[in-house]
Amino acid sequence: MKKFSFLVMIIIFVMMFPGKGQAASGHSNIYLDGTELVLATNAKIETMQNNIMIPVRVVVENLGFNVAWDKNKQSVTINNDSTVIHLVVNNKSGYVNGNKVTLPIGPALKTDTVLVPIRFVSEQLGLQVNWDNASKKIYLISSDTGSGNPGTKPEPNPDPGTEPTTPGELALINSISYSENRLMIATKGSIEPKATVMSSPNRIVIDIPYAKFSETFGTSQQLDSYLQGSFHVVGYPDLYQVRYSLYNNSPSTVRIVMDLNYAKVYTIHAEGNLLVVELKTTDPSNPGTPVGGNGKKIAVIDAGHGNQDPGAIGITGKKEKAFNLAVALKVDQLLKNEPKIEGVLTRNNDTFLELKERVKIANDLNADVFISIHANSSGSSAASGTETYYNNDRSKALANVMHKYLVRATGFKDRGVRYGNFHVIRETKMAAVLLESGYLSNKQDEAGLFTESLQNRVAQGIVDGIKEYFGLE
Ligand SMILES: [Zn+2]
Repeated sequence: MKKFSFLVMIIIFVMMFPGKGQAASGHSNIYLDGTELVLATNAKIETMQNNIMIPVRVVVENLGFNVAWDKNKQSVTINNDSTVIHLVVNNKSGYVNGNKVTLPIGPALKTDTVLVPIRFVSEQLGLQVNWDNASKKIYLISSDTGSGNPGTKPEPNPDPGTEPTTPGELALINSISYSENRLMIATKGSIEPKATVMSSPNRIVIDIPYAKFSETFGTSQQLDSYLQGSFHVVGYPDLYQVRYSLYNNSPSTVRIVMDLNYAKVYTIHAEGNLLVVELKTTDPSNPGTPVGGNGKKIAVIDAGHGNQDPGAIGITGKKEKAFNLAVALKVDQLLKNEPKIEGVLTRNNDTFLELKERVKIANDLNADVFISIHANSSGSSAASGTETYYNNDRSKALANVMHKYLVRATGFKDRGVRYGNFHVIRETKMAAVLLESGYLSNKQDEAGLFTESLQNRVAQGIVDGIKEYFGLE
């Protein structure tokens, strides 16, 4: 919301001073949300002690903040809705919301113009500042959260095994390259990447929150004024393009997208400061070949529903999508220990996929089994128990095995293996089942489904069932 009003203000200012804009001598080299600022003719930007200094009128006219100047005290007060900055000319000490801060350089007075350091002021007022050293351009990105709070910091790193990120300090992305089926992202600082497989078109999306492109990134590869770029991949049949951008500003998030020619299984791991996303080699011209050519079976695990589609709502309000995802993530973890099974999730977070997208992931991968995890609901709160659905003959054997383990895991009433005309088990081309673990409309079932112990048992049961179906020990 705030971003909107902020941009409106900029537009109004531009309209209010069209003559000045046109009369501007040249490039400001300052980009706000991708658009270069047009400065009034007499608004000169200066560099002092390696700091870019802008006249306070630029802060008002171009950045849309309020400025008050007290000539007697030689003090300048800059504010937006949430932050007040109080500075004094030639003084490195200032105040932000009443808290004392130290500036890299104090405001300067030059021929009746007060100059302030753009990075400090912008960051304090909630803009993200990126400096491209190669092109000498400054990129300001406005927050879209409305908080404008520069104190927004990463959560403490929950993993004691990794180096904690200094609060407020963003990890840096130094370079992105691709060779030998490996996407290599050189980073500095602690990162917690999130990777998601998407289809239509097939792609792998890697989000790195609390990160930004390093100042030298743009020198080695393309990065435009919107802080995005891409490169084509030549000589690899699976991947044709890699795109990257500063996707979000709150928190600052770098998004890297691998545009695939086929749905692919991948692994993601760190090698020192290198984040590696490795595509498993497959032969798309030879259906039936397991992924990796190493005899691994592919199990697509589909957590039903997601995001705006909560699925069934439990009798106390619990959402089916959360149960489905929790179990799917546990299955995925367990499958990592199975040397002969490759687990692929259709979603690994609270996102929404169309049914056909779920199907496409499995069909494009030529997966061996498709397991859709759900929980049921009924108009009658008395209905309870566990059901397993199949749609065709090729899926019956899988349904029987999976149901045996599922009923054992939930301990609920056994409602049997059933035929069902559900899209995801009808349109998938491999053995496919849909598990209705229990009834969220039933008080006992709902309570049980949201316990860690039951979810762990269901996840283990799914893995045991898959192994038995594949004849693995
Ligand atoms: Zn469901």
